Amino acid sequence: MPEPGMFPPTRQAALERLAGFVPAAGRAYSEGRNLDPGPGEPTAVSRLSPYLRHRVITEAEVVDAVLQTHGLAGAEKFIQEVLWRTYWKGWLEMRPSVWSRFLETRDRERERLVDEQALADAEAGRTGVEGFDDWARELARTGYLHNHARMWFASIWIFTLRLPWALGADLFLRRLVDADPASNTLSWRWVAGLQTPGKTYLATRENIARFTGGRFAPTGLATEAPALAEAPPEPPAGLPPAADSPPPGPFLLLATPEDLAPDLGGIDPAAAAAAVVTADPRLSLGEASSRFAAGAARDAADRLAGRMQGPVTLMDRLDADALVAAAQGAQVRTLVTPYAPVGPTADALAQAGQALQAEGLRLIQVRRGWDSRFWPHATAGFFAFRKQIPALLDPERAR
Ligand SMILES: Cc1cc2nc3c(=O)[nH]c(=O)nc-3n(C[C@H](O)[C@H](O)[C@H](O)COP(=O)(O)OP(=O)(O)OC[C@H]3O[C@@H](n4cnc5c(N)ncnc54)[C@H](O)[C@@H]3O)c2cc1C
Repeated sequence: MPEPGMFPPTRQAALERLAGFVPAAGRAYSEGRNLDPGPGEPTAVSRLSPYLRHRVITEAEVVDAVLQTHGLAGAEKFIQEVLWRTYWKGWLEMRPSVWSRFLETRDRERERLVDEQALADAEAGRTGVEGFDDWARELARTGYLHNHARMWFASIWIFTLRLPWALGADLFLRRLVDADPASNTLSWRWVAGLQTPGKTYLATRENIARFTGGRFAPTGLATEAPALAEAPPEPPAGLPPAADSPPPGPFLLLATPEDLAPDLGGIDPAAAAAAVVTADPRLSLGEASSRFAAGAARDAADRLAGRMQGPVTLMDRLDADALVAAAQGAQVRTLVTPYAPVGPTADALAQAGQALQAEGLRLIQVRRGWDSRFWPHATAGFFAFRKQIPALLDPERAR
């Protein structure tokens, strides 16, 4: 269970963290971002990921704030990193079977795992591999790891300990506060050589020693990282259809932990007859992210209550019958929710949508302009996507 306090699940905490980070988003970030100083130490990275993951704060807000201070040239590296998240989300959105294939692989690997002790030791940090064991414990304690530590951990898991990649990705999903279907699955695939076929990431003693400031220098690491193989994923399909704004007329607003920013994916809460906010634990991927999501949902509900005429209800379970009752109570036949990308929330909304339809109600998902603008460009590798960033950012801001 992660220590409380590292990521207070409120919009206020996100805004304060962003404001504190912005001055360092230029050169200090690009020069220091690869260094992992260890838990509790001052760091060059923002630690905004749980807030971005649940859109307590949006990519657009973060990028805007940084552009205002540094301009695109001054904060290019940081903006590119934020756009990695956008890219992974868009990439998976157009290839949803990569997520379902991950879930199947995870379940299959669990079934056929011969050495359960080796898995338990890796999860608990009892392998004897310096650094790796420390990161396993840090992850359990804090729900967070520096990006470089995530890369080293995944590489050692796959190539030194020779454990199934999907079980490592599953461990991260269960423990990370920022657990995300796209960023996590596709990063693990990238380390394993599945994402960019043939290209893997090999963690070395020298690199770890250098970028942990000499805290760790593990011996006995794999010296080769042969790429794993699989049947190629399906070619990218277009983005699933979604509205870009709510339809005219009264509606019930449904907020989920996929998007808790005040503008709720471009849905004006003042136009809603009533709102339901849910942080159903089944919409999260693990205990750490579920606790954060529950707190962030409560915070969003409090904010909404101050901005709406109608009632705001917190719903523990995303339950179609309860949604029907809420819509009837608000005397509306339309429910509107921010678009949910691939993952448990999208699955739950698809199911609820069917049940609502059977009652003569419709559930409409509204996709943010940011996502509709960037996601269609995630067809090939990140480097092709990266070239599009200046043109796709708001030209006024991207000076
Ligand atoms: C194996 C592995 C698993 C990962 N799993 C997740 C995950 O489940 N959820 C998650 O949000 N990130 C994941 N990442 C990406 C990255 O490690 C984290 O987003 C980052 O470390 C968060 O710390 P930060 O907010 O201080 O990042 P900063 O360096 O301050 O970056 C700012 C923001 O940009 C985004 N970002 C930065 N680097 C990346 C990246 N490589 N990929 C995608 N987005 C990025 C994040 O939203 C981050 O908050 C994973 C990376 C690896 C190698």
